[in-house]
Amino acid sequence: MFNNDIHGRLFIGGQWRDSCSGSRADVIDPSTGRVVGTIADADIADVDTAVAAARAAFESGEWAGLSGRERARVLLHIAGLVRENADEIVRLESLDVGKPVALCRAVDIATTAEQYEYYAALAQTIDGATRKVPLNAFAYTRREPLGVVAAITPFNFPLILSSAKIAPALAAGNVVVHKPAEDTPLSALFMASLFERAGVPAGVVNVVTGSGSVVGEALLKHPGVDKIAFTGSTSIGRHVASVAGEMLKPVTMELGGNAAHIVFDDADVEKAIGAIIKGFVFNTGQFCMGGPRLLVARPLYDTIVGILAAAVAGVPVGDPRDPETVVGPMAADRHVKKVEEYVELARQEGGRVVCGGERLDRNGGYYYKPTVIAGLTNDSRVVQEEIFGPVLTVQLFDTEDEAIEMANSTSYGLASGLHTTNLARAHRVADKLQAGIVWINDWAMLDPAIPFGGVKDSGFGREYGPEALASYTKVKSVVVALD
Ligand code: NAD
Repeated sequence: MFNNDIHGRLFIGGQWRDSCSGSRADVIDPSTGRVVGTIADADIADVDTAVAAARAAFESGEWAGLSGRERARVLLHIAGLVRENADEIVRLESLDVGKPVALCRAVDIATTAEQYEYYAALAQTIDGATRKVPLNAFAYTRREPLGVVAAITPFNFPLILSSAKIAPALAAGNVVVHKPAEDTPLSALFMASLFERAGVPAGVVNVVTGSGSVVGEALLKHPGVDKIAFTGSTSIGRHVASVAGEMLKPVTMELGGNAAHIVFDDADVEKAIGAIIKGFVFNTGQFCMGGPRLLVARPLYDTIVGILAAAVAGVPVGDPRDPETVVGPMAADRHVKKVEEYVELARQEGGRVVCGGERLDRNGGYYYKPTVIAGLTNDSRVVQEEIFGPVLTVQLFDTEDEAIEMANSTSYGLASGLHTTNLARAHRVADKLQAGIVWINDWAMLDPAIPFGGVKDSGFGREYGPEALASYTKVKSVVVALD
């Protein structure tokens, strides 16, 4: 259960409020399928109120007018509060998303705190440049905040992906209206209480919970929003980008993925196996940068499929509150149903299920066993489409060029990876992979300093790094006549 006084209400203009309509939506624990509380289900009127509160906070200069160092102090305070309140945040994130508590603490809490720390440092570096020009003039540039940022986030990493937007947006002096995914809003609401405690002025961060089709759509189309930072599926992303295009609003689009993981014949097999398993079971496969497509050099194919079948069957799947659990439930029943459909399709397409391939019946929760499927051709739908569950397909290749071609063959381009002990090959192949990030000899090595984002149908723009900070600013040139 969660505290309904705070967590179940909207956070607008520094106040906890019910939605204008009074409507509420259920919150479900994916490990049992049971309703554990309700949250406010906002509508257009609440979005209007939140954007107005954000606009007023921006215009007041209470946040945008602070120096970078003053904003940095608040961001560091937020990072500290995230660490101090780790137990409660882990509890909520686990209850809401089904995240195993040990992983949530090690990854989601640590990464979130580090993002605020990283952007606290960068907040102090925002500056402009002087430009020497052949005019009788003094010219310089300023980096200014954009204004009201609409941050729209998906269900799978609520905490990390909201802070990937809110931390750089705040560092640059913007204000935010955050719409978390309808299924997983609890950590966003708890974070709002930490923003308050850290001294973020009222109205600078607002959290509006509700559906994508009502709240998300109203935010997108709101004339008071200056930038849209969107993470979610490619299909919704196309719609978001088209609205942003119509309204000429800057957007960052972090969309779907379907990464390939290439294992060359000179790879360190033991290391590769660990990375492959991490790449597709992490977050129960609900990981945009997961590696669901494994491409193995022919000489290693049988060995790797054999080791995987045994190792994957031994991965602890179960109650997310058990510290030994590695794979928890999926976040919602519809995600399990989607995986079931894809595994059935794989069987029809001639795939051989090497391990898993079925639901795990446990306490009414939304569990699916980690699954490895061999024998599919590269053009099969199961290989080409984003499944977003704990499913790995394995295919073999004969040449380096063939591996690269297969890796690049999907419409997505978020992440990619390769295993080899040949340094020249590692860089040569990394150069040719169409992806926003390439990992060599491991998987999912991420840090707030390393930019990530997509190419092709995985989107555009980058999160993390100074690149993300820059995307929350606009450049103004000032030219002073000297005569
Ligand atoms: P989704 O696209 O269904 O929803 C994402 C967000 O958009 C949610 O908050 C949703 O309510 C909102 N939304 C839905 N319709 C909207 C509309 N018409 N207008 C505005 N907002 C709307 O995605 P999801 O199922 O929550 O998340 C899974 C997807 O996100 C996967 O495709 C995954 O690959 C992708 N993802 C990408 C990244 C990345 O960094 N590239 C990270 C995580 C997840």
